[in-house]
Amino acid sequence: MSLAALLQTRIAASGPMTIADYMAEALLNPDHGYYTTRTPFGAEGDFITAPEMTQMFGELIGLCLAQSWMDQGAPAAFTLAELGPGRGTLMADALRATKQVPGFGAAARIMLVEASPQLRQVQARMLDGYDVTWVDSAADLPDAPLWCIANEFFDALPIRQFVRDGAHWRERCVGQQDGKLVIGLAPQGPQSALDHRRDDTQDGDLVETRPAATCIMVELARRIDAHGGVALIVDYGDWRSLGDTLQAVRDHESTGILHAPGTADLTAHVDFEALARAAAPAAYTRLTPQGVFLERLGITHRAQALAETLYGNALNTHIAAHRRLTHPDEMGNLFKVLGVYPATAAPPPGLSA
Ligand code: SAH
Repeated sequence: MSLAALLQTRIAASGPMTIADYMAEALLNPDHGYYTTRTPFGAEGDFITAPEMTQMFGELIGLCLAQSWMDQGAPAAFTLAELGPGRGTLMADALRATKQVPGFGAAARIMLVEASPQLRQVQARMLDGYDVTWVDSAADLPDAPLWCIANEFFDALPIRQFVRDGAHWRERCVGQQDGKLVIGLAPQGPQSALDHRRDDTQDGDLVETRPAATCIMVELARRIDAHGGVALIVDYGDWRSLGDTLQAVRDHESTGILHAPGTADLTAHVDFEALARAAAPAAYTRLTPQGVFLERLGITHRAQALAETLYGNALNTHIAAHRRLTHPDEMGNLFKVLGVYPATAAPPPGLSA
């Protein structure tokens, strides 16, 4: 039975489901979920992420984390974590680049927050030779200093969608009609989590929330505030989201969000303001375009050094990847970086208070 058919049976029995429940099933259903049944990254996959384009991305992230670890007194034992590591490429590049940083590797306990058993196996192969621990959620990370990275992780977490209706909101839900999944609106009700959106929305406007993201940020920030550390969040989105940003991608092309659930990636823009609010009492940096962040970390210098070792196709691919990550017309501006750090410490390199 397809996931679409299973969801229709469920809806027939217990009523429409929220967009968040639908997204969670489509992405992580143990038998049919997108992440649980395939390895979707890379040129042959449905989409390509920054660490899969070039080793420079993971290298610079690793060095940024290592520098901020030194800036905060180089604690002798800390958690080096990645949330949603995909194929494990970013972590592998970060670990290789930070080998020359004295004491960093020895002090780091590498932990990966990954929901998909299939991807855990891919990550284990990529990080062969390192001592790696996997956990199911950020809440399982040790109560210890924490330096962590999340690239294109938060965009995969389920969102809820609400449409403004007078002083109240109506939630968009997935129902079924004539043997097909359809979107509908639940009856109106108050939503205290959206009180701060009263002033910048009008009747008919759509606003998204991401309850799981808020909980995860609370877990990360609590450790960073109490013991030191940094969280780097890299994703597409903006300070405050408005409008429907849910999208499905299969084979590098956009498709309908209800079409064949489990076979396409579902993501939505990250509302960085919501993450920053959840980080208190830890401090957060200015939201910074990825291109600016990587330039400040020295990507051009690194790109030139690597270019000297390459020729032909490899050189062209390398030049294209550099441009794609940093150019404002490509990922340079669409993707943003938010840093979370202790209020008593300096912000991580590449980001400002
Ligand atoms: N960071 C990687 C992959 C991004 S795709 C890269 O840049 O290439 C999203 C990743 O998050 C996948 O590894 C997926 O399995 C994982 N993921 C999605 N939802 C998750 C959840 N709720 N908990 C833990 N991991 C999750």
